[in-house]
Amino acid sequence: MKTAPGPGNVALVDRDIGDPQAGQVLLDVTGAGVCGTDLHICDDEYRNHPPVTMGHEVAAVVRAVGMGVDAGWLGARVTCETYFSTCGECAPCRDGRINLCPRRRSIGSFADGGFAERLLLPVANLHRIPGGVDEHAAALCEPLACVCNCLCDPAVVSPGDLVLVTGPGAMGLLAAQVARAAGGTVLVVGRGSDEVRLRAAAELGFPTATADDADRVGSFAAPDGPDVVIECSGAAAGIHTCLTSARAGGRYVQIGLAGRAVAVPFDELCYRELSVRSGFASTPWSWRRALRLVEGGQVRLDPLVSEVVGLGQWERVFADTRSGRGIKFVFDPRL
Ligand SMILES: [Zn+2]
Ligand SMILES: [Zn+2]
Repeated sequence: MKTAPGPGNVALVDRDIGDPQAGQVLLDVTGAGVCGTDLHICDDEYRNHPPVTMGHEVAAVVRAVGMGVDAGWLGARVTCETYFSTCGECAPCRDGRINLCPRRRSIGSFADGGFAERLLLPVANLHRIPGGVDEHAAALCEPLACVCNCLCDPAVVSPGDLVLVTGPGAMGLLAAQVARAAGGTVLVVGRGSDEVRLRAAAELGFPTATADDADRVGSFAAPDGPDVVIECSGAAAGIHTCLTSARAGGRYVQIGLAGRAVAVPFDELCYRELSVRSGFASTPWSWRRALRLVEGGQVRLDPLVSEVVGLGQWERVFADTRSGRGIKFVFDPRL
């Protein structure tokens, strides 16, 4: 958990989370994905309120239910929306855009999250895991819901679009699959060091290129450039590639988070008359869409899980996530 404000201050500690209150469920965590946001919380580059247990990508089994909760949930395999609470009163809340509530308390940053054996959540946050999706990979439903919020609501990709995705991490490989499901033809671009990730992209059926292979990137959508560019690396180089390769009048989507100000050629937005789309976190609707895509097989989560580890290995796993070794590490607190 994040024990105190400031960079670092992350440790394994014992923490009592209590019993489920009315409307809540107590979950046994089976899988909790490590995400770039967790590194930003570790570095204090993403807002958080310590002491707080980190982890917002969760798959679990319902262990106990609070008053007023349908006992039919007991034993269910679930994955969870991440807002422990929203204020219900601000303009975004009243508009149904709860992801934009300035007073929302998300698990993993403002309320205790999933890097733990147990997790307390409102029952309204639960979604049943589709059959055939395993208890670790199901944690990736959360990043998938975020990708769906960015790409589908409203739709950014139309059938026949040429789509370039930079950053072949979990977000990039999910975005590539959603863009393909929407009818796009997708090229996945990474750095030379992204070998493992680009191989996973190829196994998912995508053509790949490294960013320094300008010919390959250029010829993908020659002569005009891709209709849609989806930036999932959060790094200046990826943003640069997207801004300078999109076709005039094309669409630019920012999904990756840099965590700090970066220098990029923003004038390209004007020169190319690009429209910009992004999205913050997920919505109930993006979750339902994400689960349908998984259930229908248009999006595969399993190939993105590089390793399942116990919580005791968090330092090594954070370092491997930081250096881009592997794609998605998932904690199983029972290990
Ligand atoms: Zn995440
Ligand atoms: Zn609100």
